[in-house]
Amino acid sequence: MTVGILGGGQLGRMLALAGIPLGLRFRFLDPDADSPCAQVAEQILAAYDDPAALDRLTAGAEVVTFEFENVPAQVAQHLESHAKGRAVHPPALALATLQDRLLEKSLFVDCGVSVPEFVPVATREELSAAVKTLGVGAGLVIKGRRMGYDGKGQAVIRPQAAAGGLSVAQQVEAAWADLSARAAAGGLIIERFVAFKRELSLIGVRARDGATRFYPLVQNHHARGVLRTTIAPAPDLAPGLQQAAEDRARAIMQKLEYVGVLAIEFFESTDRKDGIPVLLGNEMAPRVHNTGHWTIEGAPTSQFENHIRAIVGLPLGETTPRQPCAMVNILGRFPRSAEVLGIPGAHLHLYGKSERPGRKIGHITILADSHEQLPGLIERVERLLPNGD
Ligand code: AMP
Repeated sequence: MTVGILGGGQLGRMLALAGIPLGLRFRFLDPDADSPCAQVAEQILAAYDDPAALDRLTAGAEVVTFEFENVPAQVAQHLESHAKGRAVHPPALALATLQDRLLEKSLFVDCGVSVPEFVPVATREELSAAVKTLGVGAGLVIKGRRMGYDGKGQAVIRPQAAAGGLSVAQQVEAAWADLSARAAAGGLIIERFVAFKRELSLIGVRARDGATRFYPLVQNHHARGVLRTTIAPAPDLAPGLQQAAEDRARAIMQKLEYVGVLAIEFFESTDRKDGIPVLLGNEMAPRVHNTGHWTIEGAPTSQFENHIRAIVGLPLGETTPRQPCAMVNILGRFPRSAEVLGIPGAHLHLYGKSERPGRKIGHITILADSHEQLPGLIERVERLLPNGD
């Protein structure tokens, strides 16, 4: 069976590496000649909306999926409507919904997930009005509705004292200068900064028959909008929190008639409701996710294998972790492999990319006997990473 994948980055590469032992073949469409997937499977080098390339990608493929959520949603819709017996998973509706922060937030709210207070804006006047309506409070963040990832294309409005003396009006002016092109292209959202205890994410998978499985909530640490580390499972989870997150995720997946892996990023609020900390929805990804890379060694079935199992119609695999673990991203510059692998319990994954400041070029997973060991092990790994920001 052949699986066609839109996008040829490291996520696609790890999907192929998980699916090849199941006897599957992979074919990728990516406009970048230097893609991590070209090294492990056939790549079609073309734009995502090139009709001839899409025909080549799907010729003889039983299933098509995505490893990149910014593939134009019309492409997924086109593939769905010209399916010819071929499945497209996750559905184009999921891709279209999660590509737009406004639709994504509405979906969160419809499915019982609170979100930071926000206002959609499209013009300079609407932006100023929204800043007045929300009030600067502890700060506001302005995000493009579309094509956002890793905190890119965002601006922050802070109280004057915290903004080096810049008035709110001056900050709005500067933010508009940065983001007006994005506003014209797809609109903006301005939202209130929330004081959160920590960032958590949930990775779930839904099979074609509607069966679901979830990995435990994990704790993520970002710096300058980019994921640095994940701890799995998240330590000290309040009783009931996992169940609450799973219930909401299941509702979201049902609503989208979802098939495959879905990742949801939450802020764990300091507020409680019914005795349980409130989870605020930040964003979702209709694909395997960086905060699930630990599952390759840390869970009986990885997120990559479970995504493949789901989309080709195989039973889902066990998701309960074997032991605590941490994942550390390698950004920009490579560490020495021998030094990394000299740490007991460390596993190295390099994506076949070249060094470039800030670029995700690999990750390291460390397995431990207890959560108490993890901070020391993470520190040991981080000491081996050259500054690649
Ligand atoms: P995003 O691109 O929406 O994932 O934002 C990137 C990062 O910025 C998040 O992982 C948070 O660390 C931070 N962030 C985004 N939105 C908010 C918010 N409303 N309140 C506090 N921090 C935020």
